[in-house]
Amino acid sequence: MKSNPARAPLTGETLDSLTARLREQGEPAYRAKQILAWVYQKRARSWEDMTDLAKPLRAWLAETFDLLPMSLVHGKQSLDVTDKLLLELNDQSLIETVIIRVPQQGVGLENSRKTICISTQVGCAMGCKFCASGLMGLKRDLNAGEIVAQLLHVCYREDARTPRARAELASFDNIVVMGMGEPLANYEAIATALEIINADWGFGFGARRITLSTSGLVPNILKLADNPIGVRLAISLHGATDEVRSQIMPINRAYPLAKLLPAVKAFSEKHGRMVTLEFILIEGVNDSLDQARKLRTIARDLHAHVNLIPYNTVQGLTWKRPSLTRQKKFVEILREGRVSATLRREKGHDIDAACGQLRLKTEKERAAAD
Ligand code: SAH
Ligand code: SF4
Repeated sequence: MKSNPARAPLTGETLDSLTARLREQGEPAYRAKQILAWVYQKRARSWEDMTDLAKPLRAWLAETFDLLPMSLVHGKQSLDVTDKLLLELNDQSLIETVIIRVPQQGVGLENSRKTICISTQVGCAMGCKFCASGLMGLKRDLNAGEIVAQLLHVCYREDARTPRARAELASFDNIVVMGMGEPLANYEAIATALEIINADWGFGFGARRITLSTSGLVPNILKLADNPIGVRLAISLHGATDEVRSQIMPINRAYPLAKLLPAVKAFSEKHGRMVTLEFILIEGVNDSLDQARKLRTIARDLHAHVNLIPYNTVQGLTWKRPSLTRQKKFVEILREGRVSATLRREKGHDIDAACGQLRLKTEKERAAAD
């Protein structure tokens, strides 16, 4: 169905907001739940699919709401460990949503566990020096409806894959808010989206299976700690000292480690769950053994898990990942200190979809064609 920018995305409505809109139309209170069940449980693709709604109501809904505020530009047909969906919003902005399949022994890729990586902004204002999204600056925030609709697109795609999947309605195991954008710089939209994703009238997806990653916007980490939906937190640390971190992440000047680390501790104490520290390994920048030792101290103090991610090359940037020997040495130092640490690619699978890269490529191709 074609999107219409004048209408509000239905996927941005909460049960309360939709009930209020419908009440103005003289509809009973249960109507909103009925409509939301069509969207999230029965995966209706058009208003006509909602067969138990009266025709005039369906017409009003079609005039008032956009059922899905974006369309799929392309996604690979083949099943792969990572599938990227390139989605076009009503203003022609492009975002990407990634399906990451975790290969399991004895289970075909088709039925493997799936993590969905969603975007929260078009571009990003944080300007991290190593990141494709940071390179392009911020175009705009996504609204809550655009954040939630990415998950529906994933479901439609997976539902369509096989008749069996359609019959069972495909699902996924984890959501990571690690696509394009800084989620905590778009706080209200992400908070509403999380409510819709978590609520039983929405996706009904457990908060413990959702991880939000931030570059370290301290005030909003504290705000998130107070949010009743207890999602997991990941911090993009990437430097174990202010000197190294400020060199690659401008946000560190506003919120240096002395401010960031206590906020992370406050979050983890409030939630009683381990926070993850993400650390991209970039050769000659943050891969020294001294950084490893300092990271070990930080992780121990926070009782945090460390996720080491060998850098993914970005077109136009000269950064490189360190040698495998150096990567292994780095993780060894952490483990020697009994810090729980994973080194991605250990299993031989590159499941890191470097954020923003597919969009960057398509934007460049479009610019060249204009
Ligand atoms: N803005 C948030 C979430 C999106 S970025 C954040 O920064 O946490 C998701 C993760 O991908 C971050 O840890 C980010 O640092 C990492 N990342 C960005 N560019 C990368 C690259 N080229 N290689 C590997 N990881 C990258
Ligand atoms: Fe933005 Fe995260 Fe990329 Fe930094 S790493 S520029 S915060 S998307």
